[in-house]
Amino acid sequence: MLDHSAISPIGNAMRKDLNIVFKISERCNLKCDYCYFFFGGDETWKKHPPLVSREVVQDLGAFVARAARDEQLELIHLIFHGGEPLLMSKPRFTEMCETLRGYENGFQFSFALQTNGVLVDEGWIDIFERYRVTAGVSLDGPPVVNDLHRLDFKGRSSYDATVAGLRLLQQAATQGRVSAPGLLCVINPFADGAKVYRHFVDDLGVKHMSFLTPDYTWDSIVGEPVIRGVERFLLAALRAWLADKNPKIQVRVFSELLAAMVDQRAMELVQTYRDDYRNIISVSSNGDLGPEDTLRTLDPRFASMGLNVESNDLRDLFESGAWREQADAVTIRPEKCKTCDWWKLCKAGRPVNRYSRAAGFSNHSLYCSGLKDLYAEIGAFLVRNGTPLAELALRLAS
Ligand code: SF4
Repeated sequence: MLDHSAISPIGNAMRKDLNIVFKISERCNLKCDYCYFFFGGDETWKKHPPLVSREVVQDLGAFVARAARDEQLELIHLIFHGGEPLLMSKPRFTEMCETLRGYENGFQFSFALQTNGVLVDEGWIDIFERYRVTAGVSLDGPPVVNDLHRLDFKGRSSYDATVAGLRLLQQAATQGRVSAPGLLCVINPFADGAKVYRHFVDDLGVKHMSFLTPDYTWDSIVGEPVIRGVERFLLAALRAWLADKNPKIQVRVFSELLAAMVDQRAMELVQTYRDDYRNIISVSSNGDLGPEDTLRTLDPRFASMGLNVESNDLRDLFESGAWREQADAVTIRPEKCKTCDWWKLCKAGRPVNRYSRAAGFSNHSLYCSGLKDLYAEIGAFLVRNGTPLAELALRLAS
């Protein structure tokens, strides 16, 4: 067990930042059937207000100011999340940003937002420009892939509306008003990862993206074809990205691995993130505190921890039992991972993908064999392009 009392809750001396996923809207204008938030089994959202109140925004500002003072935090990455965050009205969103900025004292907020893009318009872009909000858009691929899951409440495609929002953001980015929007794609196991990647790059002109493995656990009733399909998608997308050899195109899930294999500092950074999930917390629309958002669906003990920004401090969260359980997960080296050459990079993958009711976080990743292929492919690419094998082996040595 990790001795939590001996270290800062932020865990790593390199760390002066904290990520907060802030559920400003717990309702959505789409009905994507794979959505962990609404259909993942945790129904606490039904008891939460659809939109965050002014009081909770103030409580969060005060909570962050206390956390920054107590834990010497300098940068708070606040990710406006949902549901769909743009269901909040523009005046309320503006007021929220003003309120939060008013708490900056010895620390700074950076604002980001994850949206399905449908409601993005010029008015929103003005707000993003004024408050330096970086927007990420969720899209799963061309219509034939995206519309398998990402539909509205009447079962209609969301593709055109999402792409229209993306285009507005891209246009504003070329004018220097906002940051270029990135795409977040949930992997469809039956889609071709290379085609999805090409669609994003060639048809939509996107330069930043990431691919997310579906939030399955070892208890999910999904067969081998689904798991193998996810792995195949990742490998195909990776090969397409490597073939481009274009450093301006960043696929986060691949770029950070490649960087870690060639650069010691990047390796340390990846390890820090893998090692320390205490760097990501979530705040519900009613102010309740919790762990990284996808973990809420695993068990009620992660969804309702009985802690709230109004009356608790960051340390209360880090000292709670459920929090310690998920934080300790990173210290467990599952049996299968004990002899794995990729351990330092992988650390058994995303927590949600290694969880089971029976063994908690003690399992290797559900996508283990695909992850190994991914790491090996990147390693082989580097060696082919001049990285000495011995140097790579040394960096990966545990
Ligand atoms: S690739 Fe598999 S065995 Fe290796 S560390 Fe990751 S989950 Fe464990």
